[in-house]
Amino acid sequence: MANRCTPKVLSRMNKQKPLIWINNLVLFGTLAVTVTVVPWYLYSHSVGWGVWLAALLLWAWSGLSITAGYHRLWAHRAWQAHPALQWLLAIGGAMAMQNTILHWCSDHRTHHKHVDNNDRDPYSAGNGFWYSHIGWLLRDHGISDADTKNVRDLHKNPIVQFQHRHYLLLAGATNLGLPLALGWLAGDLWGGLLIAGFLRVVLVHHGTFFINSLAHIWGSQPYSDAHSSRDNGLLALLTFGEGYHNFHHSFEYDYRNGVRWWQFDPTKWLIQLAYQLRLASGLRRTPQERIEKARLTMQLRRSQLQFDGQQHAAELLARLEQEYEQLAVRLQAYYQQKQRLLQANKRRLDRSAKQQLRELKQALELQRQQWLQLRQQLHAMA
Ligand SMILES: [Zn+2]
Ligand SMILES: [Zn+2]
Repeated sequence: MANRCTPKVLSRMNKQKPLIWINNLVLFGTLAVTVTVVPWYLYSHSVGWGVWLAALLLWAWSGLSITAGYHRLWAHRAWQAHPALQWLLAIGGAMAMQNTILHWCSDHRTHHKHVDNNDRDPYSAGNGFWYSHIGWLLRDHGISDADTKNVRDLHKNPIVQFQHRHYLLLAGATNLGLPLALGWLAGDLWGGLLIAGFLRVVLVHHGTFFINSLAHIWGSQPYSDAHSSRDNGLLALLTFGEGYHNFHHSFEYDYRNGVRWWQFDPTKWLIQLAYQLRLASGLRRTPQERIEKARLTMQLRRSQLQFDGQQHAAELLARLEQEYEQLAVRLQAYYQQKQRLLQANKRRLDRSAKQQLRELKQALELQRQQWLQLRQQLHAMA
């Protein structure tokens, strides 16, 4: 990571920046109550299932509103939502207490545009864990665009505008009023406030913050190492699927983060469900060929980085490079044929294309096997 600041430099830098009191109060106030009063309350009271259920519901509502709404819908426009669903996500987003849609999306678009640039990325991981996790929120570093000029498209959205104008009211009602009301219904007013209010909001806060910090530090880079983002399945469990951050930074307009079927991405599943219910449309996907090509290119790059200049591995490395070229050709041939078949099916014309596709798929699989064996052979030399 370039431009890494030492803690000393960072603290000197921070001293010159004015504190944002409201952020400090909210972030540390909720955290302080959660690590002191909540454990005491759990120890001294028996909290019933009604309160836990309320907390779970509000956690999922507010968390998914950030991931499906703030992030994938509004910041990236990776899908479109029916106004009824947008209202749910806008209110749930206020409950997550991470500022308005306009400010959040403005910062996030800047993050993608200038990722890892310590002077222009609002939560650049190059400034260290603390800064990218929470430090950037505590002081005014002058990086965030106060005019939110990079979200002009969102300025035209009446739901986004309403949330922006009435944010404090919405955040107050959903973080105090709603947990108290649900606690009262469950027969435990204060339990509702402490568990479904304080504990829940702290979990949602730090879940999101981990994506800015840990998901740029800890994990694998299967798609690109041009940025610091990482894929991390463990983080995906805590963040409704946002842990596959290397894929996301590589293909930011894709509505999926966990692109493989077995990857845990409840945000993707929610958007797919909304699509089935006709509440979502325009789901954007990166062509599979590009995804696979990126994965292969990274595999080749890793082998090259590891064995470049090593005489004993030179021959195998050269063969791997040739194999990569052939595999790329097969990949392209297969996906082009698949595309042709899709179009032909629409016109109800084609008959032999299916057979051709089967043959291309077999050839591709064979080439993949060769690629894998060759890589194993090469890496066995390490
Ligand atoms: Zn993003
Ligand atoms: Zn990121």
